[in-house]
Amino acid sequence: MGFRTLDDLGDIKGKRALVRVDLNVPMADGRVTDETRMRALLPTVLELADKGAKVLLLAHFGRPKGAKHSEMSVSMVLDALQEVLGREIMFVPEIAGDVVAQSVGILTDGDIALLENTRFWLGEEKNDPELARAVAANGDFYVNDAFSAAHRAHMSTEGLAHILPAYAGRAMEAELKALQAALGAPEHPVAAVVGGAKVSTKLDVLNNLVKQVDHLIIGGGMANTFLAARGVDVGKSLCEHDLAEQANAIMDAADSAGCTIHLPYDVVTARAFRANPPTRTVNVHEVAADEMILDVGPAAVEALADVLKNCRTLVWNGPLGAFEIAPFDAATVSLARTAAALTREGSLVSVAGGGDTVAALAHAGVTEDFTFVSTAGGAFLEWMEGKPLPGVDALNIA
Ligand code: ADP
Ligand code: MG
Repeated sequence: MGFRTLDDLGDIKGKRALVRVDLNVPMADGRVTDETRMRALLPTVLELADKGAKVLLLAHFGRPKGAKHSEMSVSMVLDALQEVLGREIMFVPEIAGDVVAQSVGILTDGDIALLENTRFWLGEEKNDPELARAVAANGDFYVNDAFSAAHRAHMSTEGLAHILPAYAGRAMEAELKALQAALGAPEHPVAAVVGGAKVSTKLDVLNNLVKQVDHLIIGGGMANTFLAARGVDVGKSLCEHDLAEQANAIMDAADSAGCTIHLPYDVVTARAFRANPPTRTVNVHEVAADEMILDVGPAAVEALADVLKNCRTLVWNGPLGAFEIAPFDAATVSLARTAAALTREGSLVSVAGGGDTVAALAHAGVTEDFTFVSTAGGAFLEWMEGKPLPGVDALNIA
C-alpha cells in the first residue's frame, strides 16, 4: 500500500518523533475506565522509544474548542498511560514553542513526553499551517497512529504530514491493512452485515455497500424500514416510514449492481422493551399490531450463516437486534460466532466496527477471533461510506 511504516525509518537514535495517538479514553471520577485505546498505541510508542527516538505524543481530549480547560488537559490520563506503557512520561503543557523545545532538550534518547491537548489551540481543528509549522519545528519526523481521528483534516492528523516525513504507526498500519482486505481489494464473494437502530444514520453506508458487496445482510431496527417499504406491517416496531422511498431506491440499486439484499423472514417480537418479556417467533407477515420486532429470527439466522459459509470476506457494522436486552442478543451472538468459526478455519476475512458493534461482538466473545475489530467509530463509518479519510490520504506516497 502507498504509505510508509516504521519499517521505513532508518536510524532514529536521538531523533525527535512527533506521534499522533488516540488518548480520547472514557473517564469517570477522574479515572480512566477503559484502556483499550492506550494499549493500541503501545507497540508504536515502545518501538520508537526502544530505537532511541525522543518520543513526543500528540493527542486531543474532549471538545475544548480552542481554549484551555484544565478538566480536559491530557495530563488527566498521564498516570494511566504511564501504567499501560510501563514507562515514565514527561508532561509538557504546550504543543509548540520554547517550552516544548526546552523539554525536548531535557529528554534523553528513548524518553517519552506527552504534549498538551491539541484542541486547546484553535489552529488544531482549523488545520492552521502556521501552527503545524510551529509544532513541526520540534520534530524530525511524524507518525500517525490514530486511525480513529483520520476522518478529520486537523493540524495533528493531516497538516503535520505535509511538513515532516510521515509514517503510519503500527496500529494505523494494522487498521489500514484490515480495511484494505475488507473493502479495498477484497476476495469475493463479499458479505456485509448492516444493523443497528436506524436507516437514517446509515444511508451513505448502505448506498456505498450495494456497489461493493455481493450480499448485503440488513438487520436491526433498520430492517423494519425496509420490510415496511415492501409492504410488511411491522406493528409497533422501530421504523422510519418516511424513508420508504430511500429504502426502495437502495433495493433497486442493489438489483442493478448484482448485490443480493437479505432481509429477515422470521423475527422475534415482544410487546414490552425490557429484559425477558414474553416473546413470539413469527414470520414477518404475522407481526401483531401491538408488537415490536426486536431481533432476527432463528430460521433467518441459519440462512444467513449459510450465506457467510459461501463468502470469503465479511464486513460488519451494527447489531442484528436489541442485543443489550436478553433474549434479543440471540441472532447477533449466533451469526457472530459463525463468522468467528469461519475466520478461525481460514475461510473468511472478517472485519467489524462501530461503537455498539464492538460491544455486541465482545458480548458474543468473538473479538479475538475476528480478523479485525475496529474501535475507530466515526472514522470506521466514514470509511464504510466510501469517503476519503484526510489523515490517511496525507500519509499516501503514491
Ligand atoms: P453501531 O454503534 O455499532 O454503529 P448502532 O448505533 O447503529 O450501531 O445501533 C445499535 C443500536 O441498535 C443498539 O442500541 C440496539 O439496541 C439497536 N437495535 C438493534 N435492533 C433493534 C430493533 N429491532 N429495535 C430497536 N432497536 C434495535
Ligand atoms: Mg451506536
